[in-house]
Amino acid sequence: MSEWTDIIDGIADHIVLLRELGEHTVEVDPAVIRMLAASGKASATSTAPVPAAVKHTPPPVTSIGQPQRMAPVATSIPSLTPEERRKALDDIAARVDACNACVLRQQRTRSVPGQGNYSTPDIMFIGEAPGQDEDRQGLAFVGAAGQFLNKMIHAMGYTRDDIFIANICKCRPPNNRTPQSDEMQTCLPFLREQIRIIRPKVIVLLGATAIKGLLDTQVGVTRMQGQWTRYEGIPVMPTFHPAYILRFESFGDMAGLKKAKTEVWHALKLVLAHLGKPVPNPASHS
Ligand code: URA
Repeated sequence: MSEWTDIIDGIADHIVLLRELGEHTVEVDPAVIRMLAASGKASATSTAPVPAAVKHTPPPVTSIGQPQRMAPVATSIPSLTPEERRKALDDIAARVDACNACVLRQQRTRSVPGQGNYSTPDIMFIGEAPGQDEDRQGLAFVGAAGQFLNKMIHAMGYTRDDIFIANICKCRPPNNRTPQSDEMQTCLPFLREQIRIIRPKVIVLLGATAIKGLLDTQVGVTRMQGQWTRYEGIPVMPTFHPAYILRFESFGDMAGLKKAKTEVWHALKLVLAHLGKPVPNPASHS
């Protein structure tokens, strides 16, 4: 996909988002109008109405294997203040907690809506579903996998307060089994709503369930890992789940562990490069 196509896709996604939020006009930079006019997609007017026919389309995997440098896309919701965002997320958390739409509700202790920086953070990490520790505390990624995720976050030069962490499913599956498709489908609207409100600059998907859930693809994590794609105009970087990496350690497979860590670090460095952030020395975080 060309860089121009990426830019136009990003603009189109953002216009869809604005329309869903009730906006009826968008301010467009004259340079963008000139570009669109040149490509025959718009007339040269400075305040373009949002097309009435724009409809929400399900989140596609637009492509995989895009180049490391991606076109910038609009990533903020001008119509929501931080306070409005917080209220909207609290409202989602309350609905998550009251939700009885799938069997996961029956055995979970606490719902786990997700937590962190909700005002256009650089990164939103998305995992699979809460485990035992998360279920007890009502917080995402606070168990062993969370400890490893912390290392990833710190290695990138961030703290947990800088980023947002959520899961595909908000309730713990019994015995930490993989969530079933119907459970994921039932829970996904909450996550989609969260993403629209939080509008992270990059989404990092952790593992196969997060990839399948958000991107609705059968392409596996091994192929997707380290390859840019998009969700509603937001750049998405899929990588391995921390628990998958920890498994190498528990099996004593140090070569596998090193390889998996190297691959994850490569993906995270692509994220840093996209965000224009320096890459800290990984040696101190191994
Ligand atoms: N694994 C996940 O995918 N999410 C959590 O919150 C914890 C472990």
